[in-house]
Amino acid sequence: MCRLHNPSGKPFCCDICHAVPAAYLREWDYLMAHTHLWHAWRGDECDSKTRDSQQLSTDMPDYMCLLACLGPDHCQRDFRCMSCRQFPFFPYITADDRFIGMTYYWDFEPYCWVVSNLGTVTDRFRREFFTTYDALLNEWEEEYDSYYYLSEDMRTTFAQKRRRIPILHRNGGYYLLSPKSDRLSRVEPHQFRQFGFYKAGKG
Ligand code: SF4
Ligand code: SF4
Repeated sequence: MCRLHNPSGKPFCCDICHAVPAAYLREWDYLMAHTHLWHAWRGDECDSKTRDSQQLSTDMPDYMCLLACLGPDHCQRDFRCMSCRQFPFFPYITADDRFIGMTYYWDFEPYCWVVSNLGTVTDRFRREFFTTYDALLNEWEEEYDSYYYLSEDMRTTFAQKRRRIPILHRNGGYYLLSPKSDRLSRVEPHQFRQFGFYKAGKG
């Protein structure tokens, strides 16, 4: 749905010029032992855009690493990393420490079709997302904290823009959340905004 809009012809989240996958070190050990799909990100895989490789590496917690794959023509779905499987979503944690739902990496609003079509996310995806992250965040405090701070960044950014944060709640509902108070208002999925190429009426 999105690759038609990417000059490279690749889905945006599988194009190393737009998204660099991050993996847990334990995940990378597993992938190295089972597939040649991945290599450690070098920073020179994208010709068209210079990324700040120093900054990306500095932002990585010490229990994760940056990877690059062979590209979407060679994808092996069974050996995708977790960041591929969860994209464009991450766990949203409120200011008072409750993991209430999924929201998305907001930098991808102009590019990702799913972000403009949140109503298409299946119940099964949502269920599996919560099962996975309930287990993972429960046993891994650092990872919980990193999503807490990412949620906080999102609150700051959306408060500055005077926008509310879209939430796919663990109760199955759709909400807009006020970034200053974490107050939730229930909405229908068609009430979420659409962006860029995906605005209603655009091809
Ligand atoms: S492994 Fe597959 S899903 Fe993940 S970035 Fe590469 S092509 Fe995309
Ligand atoms: S998740 Fe978003 S960016 Fe990735 S392939 Fe789907 S529409 Fe494109």
